[in-house]
Amino acid sequence: MRALIKQRPASGLALTEIEIPEPGPSEVRIRIDSASICGTDLHIYNWDDWAASTVPVPMTIGHEFVGHIDKLGDGANGFEVGQRVSGEGHIVCGQCRNCRAGREHLCRDTKGIGVNRTGAFADYLVIPEHNVYPIPDDIADEYASVLDPLGNAVHTALSFDLVGEDVLITGAGPIGLMASAVCRHVGARHVVITDINPKRLELAELMGASRAVVAGQEELDDVMHELGMKEGFDVGLEMSGSAAALQEMIDNLNNGGQVGLLGIFHGAVTIDLNKAIFKGLQFKGIYGREMFDTWHKALAMLESGLDISPILTHRFAFEDFEEGFEVLNKGDASKVILDLHA
Ligand code: NAD
Ligand code: ZN
Repeated sequence: MRALIKQRPASGLALTEIEIPEPGPSEVRIRIDSASICGTDLHIYNWDDWAASTVPVPMTIGHEFVGHIDKLGDGANGFEVGQRVSGEGHIVCGQCRNCRAGREHLCRDTKGIGVNRTGAFADYLVIPEHNVYPIPDDIADEYASVLDPLGNAVHTALSFDLVGEDVLITGAGPIGLMASAVCRHVGARHVVITDINPKRLELAELMGASRAVVAGQEELDDVMHELGMKEGFDVGLEMSGSAAALQEMIDNLNNGGQVGLLGIFHGAVTIDLNKAIFKGLQFKGIYGREMFDTWHKALAMLESGLDISPILTHRFAFEDFEEGFEVLNKGDASKVILDLHA
């Protein structure tokens, strides 16, 4: 089968022929139909410091996918061959205190497919049956292939009661933009999204934002005034991984505001936390997706009219993967989908 492999500890990926994997006990083999490229895959493609210190080589990468079940391992009886599925990319231990308490997203021994173990940019993927998630017939493949990052957006946004609230999102990457659409879908009042790159804000309005703000060029104070907001944002969703963005968020939240931290910072950051203390802010770190309530809610919202189509900006045949990574590197794309059958 074809597999997109990080062969050497250097930039780039190689499309390589390898053996089709066999599902072991309680595992399922999936024939991949489409996959999409995540920021994590781009880090691995470019082989930055994080990738070099995290990812073993050689390894097949990729973790956002949709496909059909092709073979069931012994004892994997919950699904049928031919069923259309995606899957949770975090494989958990099932034994630790959080796993046993049903909080699998907080497992102490999480392994990421395409990061710590063989991934989904291949014709076939084998994962535990537990991680497989069925896709309703009315969900198109391209939406099903981005349920993992949509799940990050949903997990972060739905950590807070958003009805009637004013929300600030920092970072208009695919996840920030999807979070904007989710906030709008569930009844937020104003959704303001910021980015330092104006190009990334072009889709903001289509993704439900009341207002897109180029960070550093416009004051959030002025924007709040324009929107008739007198006291500050109620909820902040940090989706940029920028300390400057987090500081700006703290400065512009109302007293008692709540913050979801999804963006991953490059190393330690310096923040004026006294403002957060005097404002009585609450912070919640977000990792992955809740298994499997986030999956249920993301699909249910897509079925009830949540529209994420504007961020699906580029599609390439699997063989043309390099073009996909390059449009992302240039900052020209939001979500890039690779078609395994094109
Ligand atoms: P992305 O890199 O495509 O988007 C981040 C955006 O933030 C970029 O458009 C960038 O221009 C913008 N940005 C940079 N500095 C900014 C500033 N000062 N103010 C406002 N915007 C600024 O990333 P993505 O794929 O949309 O993911 C969002 C973040 O979530 C990333 O940091 C990613 O690493 C992280 N992430 C975390 C998890 C988790 O489980 N915690 C999972 C997936 C992604
Ligand atoms: Zn665990």
